[in-house]
Amino acid sequence: MHKGYLDEAESLLSFISASPTQFHAVDCMEALLLEDGFTELSLSEPFSVSPGGKYYVTKNRSSILAFRVPTEPLRGCMICAAHTDSPTFRLKPDFELKSSGYLRLSTERYGGMILSSWLDRPLSVAGRVMLRDGEQFTSRSVSIDRDLVIIPNVAIHFNRKINEGYAYNPATDMLPLAGMAEDGGMLRAQLAEALGVDVDSIAAADLSLYDRSRGSILGLNREFFTSPRIDNLECSYASLRAFLDAEPADGIMTVCASFDNEEVGSMTKQGADSPILFDLLLRIADSLGRDLSELLPSTFLVSADNAHAIHPNHPELSDAAHAPIINGGVVIKHNASQRYATDATSEAIFSEICRRASVPIQHFANRSDMPGGSTLGSIANSHLPVNTVDIGLAQLAMHSACETAGVLDLTYMISAMRAFFSSGILAKSDREWHLI
Ligand code: ZN
Repeated sequence: MHKGYLDEAESLLSFISASPTQFHAVDCMEALLLEDGFTELSLSEPFSVSPGGKYYVTKNRSSILAFRVPTEPLRGCMICAAHTDSPTFRLKPDFELKSSGYLRLSTERYGGMILSSWLDRPLSVAGRVMLRDGEQFTSRSVSIDRDLVIIPNVAIHFNRKINEGYAYNPATDMLPLAGMAEDGGMLRAQLAEALGVDVDSIAAADLSLYDRSRGSILGLNREFFTSPRIDNLECSYASLRAFLDAEPADGIMTVCASFDNEEVGSMTKQGADSPILFDLLLRIADSLGRDLSELLPSTFLVSADNAHAIHPNHPELSDAAHAPIINGGVVIKHNASQRYATDATSEAIFSEICRRASVPIQHFANRSDMPGGSTLGSIANSHLPVNTVDIGLAQLAMHSACETAGVLDLTYMISAMRAFFSSGILAKSDREWHLI
């Protein structure tokens, strides 16, 4: 595999490793934006954006939206939306469980994960805490950066039929072992220590487990990589890299967004099923003296979230004619019930952008007898009525603690999105668009 592709994959694995939760993913993306000269805007103050300016906002410190204002009069917007969250186990507020001489953590599922994939591997705890100082409350990301807890399987001698199919129960089988019963209070103390604060200043916390595995590159030709949280930090990373590299077209504003809570339906104040993207565009347009509704026909949204590759052991699970393969290029997703927002308009335009970037495309559709998944494209579309395409990269083992994807595909996605953020789509009517 070409060294440049491997270097890019290593950069992604470092980004994922530094992003154990959505809060950390936002911190990492913010750092890249600040390094590139972006300025944070406060949602609680009037917006004043200048032509040529580069800005970002965060919401709940778990969603982030960055944008570049063109120097010329605004004609339209090129927007990419991905998501920062991944399936995990959230700690309940009173998380200490003492029994049988052990200390376990009380958790519940966040999103639809493959339960068994979380067993027998080093895990730790991360998230954000709210610190209280008198009347002042501050959100801080926190991670205990060492192997800390484990969810042990039951030995085969106690369950001889485990290889004949076993339904793991999240309330009993999946609780992590943290220490011995006398260790009560230690986790809170270690969180405080990680933050360098007094334990009493922790007023509340959003904490979850994370898989400690560092991603790695594998395959006979180093063509695959495996890592936790590939869905969807691969798309968050790739879209941001492309957004920072691109040279936007005249009069086109580029927007790069990553939302929280996709894995639980997006219906939160910081999710894609909220007005935050629409409100952001409205405030920018107002600040520039433009009417947003007139810009919407010339605005295009890419919803980037990974897709299912055909499985080597179970090819029958894919629709034979719409079965993307790893390293086969960017996947365009289609669904008759509009769980994916792609239609002929958005497919035609996005395919041409990929062709310009010499990036191959593949098409995904579910087998007609399987419901499949959904993503944030159609949800965001109901708040922002613009042409939208749902895309992703082909990966295996989606929602396993450790997933697998392709080294070459990462580069394809960055190239395709760089071309996207360097283009513009101007509406001439409701049936004619001009790609610039
Ligand atoms: Zn996803």
